[in-house]
Amino acid sequence: MKAAVGMVVTMHYTLTDNQGEVLDTSREGEPLAYLHGAQNIIAGLERALEGTGAGHKAKVTVAPAEGYGEKDPEAVFEAPREHFPPDMELTPGVRVSADGPQGPISFMVVSVNDKTATLDGNHPLAGETLHFDVEIVNVREATGEEKEHGHVHGAGGHHHD
Ligand code: ZN
Repeated sequence: MKAAVGMVVTMHYTLTDNQGEVLDTSREGEPLAYLHGAQNIIAGLERALEGTGAGHKAKVTVAPAEGYGEKDPEAVFEAPREHFPPDMELTPGVRVSADGPQGPISFMVVSVNDKTATLDGNHPLAGETLHFDVEIVNVREATGEEKEHGHVHGAGGHHHD
């Protein structure tokens, strides 16, 4: 079977940045399963895997535009310190989360002074060129329920209560 829309693709991957630093890998655990064509993974990687099958190994480089996007300067903003819970640690480099309209959103603390904190709402990998080293473990047809939900159930995928 080949990776295509409506198929469940299970793969091992290692993600490195331009400096060769490993950002994420499945190699120490279970492989990742995703539903092809359902925006479960970034567009540039999905496109590269289209039509591949079990045993396929590839090195895929994904530019920011097809990964997590370019950094948006407007996503960096200042917020008054009193908008944060007093016990929240506001240290540059630390990620904090807040309740957004569609659930929690996460920000990186850029800098802090007496009155305000500067936060960056960009995805941590925005602006990064991503290097994936992937190995397709399995390709199977998605169940009707998986297609309906837009994600994979069971091993390597989504677990419902
Ligand atoms: Zn589901």
